[in-house]
Amino acid sequence: MPTPSARTRAKPARRAMTLAEVRAFISLLATANPDAESELDFVDDYTLLVAVVLSAQATDASVNKATVNLFRDAPTPQAMVDLGEEKVGAHIRTIGLWRTKARNVVALSRQLLDRFDGKVPHDRAALESLPGVGRKTANVVMNVAFGDSTMAVDTHIFRIGNRTGLAPGATVRAVEDQLVRRIPPDMLRPAHHWLILHGRYVCKARKPECWRCPAFEPCQYRMKDELRLAPA
Ligand code: SF4
Repeated sequence: MPTPSARTRAKPARRAMTLAEVRAFISLLATANPDAESELDFVDDYTLLVAVVLSAQATDASVNKATVNLFRDAPTPQAMVDLGEEKVGAHIRTIGLWRTKARNVVALSRQLLDRFDGKVPHDRAALESLPGVGRKTANVVMNVAFGDSTMAVDTHIFRIGNRTGLAPGATVRAVEDQLVRRIPPDMLRPAHHWLILHGRYVCKARKPECWRCPAFEPCQYRMKDELRLAPA
């Protein structure tokens, strides 16, 4: 495979997609994977929130392995507070940053009980006021739990936004704002899942698998023609 020059790495897309190309790109991902959903295991809003907090800088698979037993022992905020930081830590020791995450999960559970009647609030500012919850986590919870048209930009979506011309931007927030502005409103909520799964399994960081990409035509990645044929 040709090695992209420093210039193409810096500006991987030929140009920003037109709005018609954005619609086509998202539609093609939707057709290829119509039932896309979160790969995190959860049973309700609370376990979703905890799973997303634990997933920062960790794979969904590693989080799911840990939460099987964690959620068995602590399926509610009260049970998590009762379990305590040390035992929560023992459940999630295989996940990166586990000490901080154990502290945050117990603290956010206590705050849910004290401030929100034990419920996950449907409110961005309230969510972001909880320990360990930033804008990305709030976006995921609002999207998955409450059906809001939010866009949580993780490493995969940031890369796709810039590489393909879907939503070029120098910062995570710039890419989020572009995606929210450019993706048709009726596609925005599920687009979060289509894009994450596309980045995880096809438009990969080191070598995008353009030869099997359902959205090849509207994509504006500079190197896509060199990657059109499957490796022998
Ligand atoms: S896999 Fe290739 S063709 Fe598909 S979106 Fe990514 S860069 Fe574009």
